[in-house]
Amino acid sequence: MSTLRHLAFLKAEQVREIQGEFGTPTFVYDQLLLERQAQLALGFPNPFGLTARYAMKACPSAAVLRILHRQGLHIDASSGFEVHRALRAGIPPEHLLLTAQELPGDLERLLDLRVGVNACSLHQLEQLGRLHPGRRVGIRMNPGLGSGHSNRTNVGGPSASFGIWHTHLDQVLRVQAEYDLHIELLHSHIGSGSDPEVWQRCAHLSLEIAAQLPEVTTVNLGGGFKVGRMPGESATDLHRAGAPIAAELERFERDCGRALKLEIEPGTFLVANAGALVCSVADIVDTGEEGYRFIKVDAGMTEMLRPSMYGAQHPIVVVPPAGISRSQGDFLVVGHCCESGDVLTPEPGNPEGLLVRTLYEPRVGDVVVIGGTGAYCAGMAAKNYNSFPEATEVLLAADGSHHLIRRRQTLDQIVANESIPAFLTD
Ligand SMILES: *Cc1c(COP(=O)(O)O)cnc(C)c1O
Repeated sequence: MSTLRHLAFLKAEQVREIQGEFGTPTFVYDQLLLERQAQLALGFPNPFGLTARYAMKACPSAAVLRILHRQGLHIDASSGFEVHRALRAGIPPEHLLLTAQELPGDLERLLDLRVGVNACSLHQLEQLGRLHPGRRVGIRMNPGLGSGHSNRTNVGGPSASFGIWHTHLDQVLRVQAEYDLHIELLHSHIGSGSDPEVWQRCAHLSLEIAAQLPEVTTVNLGGGFKVGRMPGESATDLHRAGAPIAAELERFERDCGRALKLEIEPGTFLVANAGALVCSVADIVDTGEEGYRFIKVDAGMTEMLRPSMYGAQHPIVVVPPAGISRSQGDFLVVGHCCESGDVLTPEPGNPEGLLVRTLYEPRVGDVVVIGGTGAYCAGMAAKNYNSFPEATEVLLAADGSHHLIRRRQTLDQIVANESIPAFLTD
């Protein structure tokens, strides 16, 4: 595991260079891998046309958005703020689709800009109808089944609040009629699984709903295509996952006479393995003969929550200085936060448990690379906990050059919005 072969897309000399030039912790994203994944997504089987959207919450950096958009991907935004962030990154409004738990305060303006909006609840559908009667809209349905590697990533089925429950279609039709809405897009994102059978069932259930919505021209099956982060884990084969979906769409066309366009919205699949976190060994401690040896790194839940939240597994490699060889030992790797849950080597799927990794014997200051950190890390961290600044982000360009794409936050920026009431200032 600890061998330098598992440094994701980086080479040992590159990570030492990044440590020296940008300091740590620093996220590094690889342009070529982003582009390769984008092309795989755009090759998803589809009989009647495809739009692939990047679910930008996975890694919302403007540089990443631009790289993926240039490849031909549109964008899935999860909040009004994400919509504005994408617009600032130069994404045209008509390439944006908002699918949010909470509609933004400036919804009217976004509609005027021609940003696509999915109603994710009956209340949202009413809101859209009241603002823009006669408008073309999408609806997100919960088709009644879910898929995900844990309850926390499962966004379909009876225990998920996402989308309109499938048996409430009569109420959808009532709101639609009241405001003369045109439901052209049917959306269902059920979570992150890799089982082609689940995808097929989801497509089938979605199409059963589409059959009752005659104006639907597009079905969007969301994202959730699994990738392998750890050595030996495999990624979703999009051709295998997509073939039965394409077959369902063809059957629908034969039965209902409507050729529906397909949309997919991968997040993880596009970026997870195109990102690595370069950090440094801050300390090495142990809890005696019967205990553990711990590597403390200068990153943690402030950069990545997935291990402490899901028990997610990320490859971790200690990189000794050039020309130095080290033996290996068993270690737990922990983050720098004053929080016992800040563990980077939990038991798989169990954030309460611990599992040692075999790694090179570390010294303070050695580089540590944590792989598979392109998705849901920089964008989903315990930002500023313990007042640690947001990490630097660097892009490794196709020509091998690296570029700063986000500076490390400063203390001034961390406290910029605070104020002290006058009565506390004397
Ligand atoms: C998060 C999300 C996605 C992407 O999920 P991944 O598991 O990262 O592929 C797609 N669509 C919607 C609506 C989402 O909320």
